[in-house]
Amino acid sequence: MSRLSRYAACLIVLLGGLSVPASYAFVGDQMVHDRSPVISHVQTVMPYVAITVDDFYTGDYRRLTAIHILEVANAAHAALTLCPAGSGLQAYSRLEPAQATEIQQLVAAGTYELCDHTYSHPVLTKLPAAAQEKEILNGQVAIKRFFGRAPSSLFRPPYGSWNAQTQEAAYHAGYGRIITWSIDSGDSEGPEKPVQMLLADVACAGPGDIILTHANRRSTAAAMPKIIAMLRAKGLEPVTLSTLLANGTPAYSYNPADMRRLYTCGHHPTPAPAGPPSLPGTPSALPVPVSPSSVPGVPPVAPAPAASDIVPPEPAPPPTPRAHRRNDPEADG
Ligand SMILES: [Zn+2]
Repeated sequence: MSRLSRYAACLIVLLGGLSVPASYAFVGDQMVHDRSPVISHVQTVMPYVAITVDDFYTGDYRRLTAIHILEVANAAHAALTLCPAGSGLQAYSRLEPAQATEIQQLVAAGTYELCDHTYSHPVLTKLPAAAQEKEILNGQVAIKRFFGRAPSSLFRPPYGSWNAQTQEAAYHAGYGRIITWSIDSGDSEGPEKPVQMLLADVACAGPGDIILTHANRRSTAAAMPKIIAMLRAKGLEPVTLSTLLANGTPAYSYNPADMRRLYTCGHHPTPAPAGPPSLPGTPSALPVPVSPSSVPGVPPVAPAPAASDIVPPEPAPPPTPRAHRRNDPEADG
C-alpha cells in the first residue's frame, strides 16, 4: 500500500467513525453547535406521510373537534402526531374534565406521537432565548401532566416562527429537532373551509411530506377521514413524525422567512431564486411578526359558532391561489 493509499485508508476509517450529532444545525454549508436543526420535510423512498394536529385549545368545547379527530384516527388505525399547546391541555382539564379524560383515553388507545408546542403559544421570535426555553419546558410539563408521558424530542414552534434563539432554546430544552411542515392544510386560515377545499389543499402530498392541521376546526374533523382515505388511495400511509424521520433523510430549513409562505397544495410558492441561504436570526430574514390574539398564559378564544360557520356540503369551488394571511383568532402553525 502506497503512502497515499494509507493516508486515504486512514481518512476513510476516521470519517466512517464520525457522525453528525443532532446538536448541530446546518446553516448553509456550516454546522452550528448547540442549535437544533429545523426540518420541514423528509426525503424518503417509503410511502410515508406525517399528519400533525396542533394546539388543542378551542373557543367552543361543544364542537368536540379534537375528540372527533382522534376517534377517526383510531377507527382508521392511522398514526397522528399531536402538538398540543400546554395551555390548551390545561384548559381542557380545568373547563371540560370529561372531555379531557376522553382525549386521554383515545390517545392511549391509538397510535400517537406527542410533540412540544410551547405552553402559551407565543410568537417565539418576540422573546429572548431564556423565555423561549421556558415556554418550551412549560409545554413539556403540561404534556406530561395531561398524557402521563413526555413528548418525543420534537419541537414545533407556534406559527412556524423561529430564529436562532429558538434553535438554541430547543436544544437546551432537550429537543434535538425542530419540526415545521411542508404542506399546510390551511385549516386555520380565516373562517372554516369547505371539506373539499381542505382535501384539495393536501391532495398533492407525497412521500415524506409533513402535513399541518389543527385540533380546533370542525372542517378538519370532518375532513380527517377523507384525508386519510385519500392518502391511502394514493398508496401513502400516515405515520408518526419519528417513524417518518427514521425512514428517510431530513430536509432542513435554513430561512425563518420560509414559513411565511402558504404551503397548501392550492397555493404552492414558486421556488426561491438560487443562492446561499440566509442565516437564521438575520434581521432581514426574520418573518414579520404575527399578531396572536392570545395573552401569554391564556389560550386564544374563538368567536362563538354562527349558523354560517357550518361546514358547507360538497361540492366546493376549486382551490384558488390566496394571499397568505394569518389574521384568524385561531390561526396558527
Ligand atoms: Zn399552534
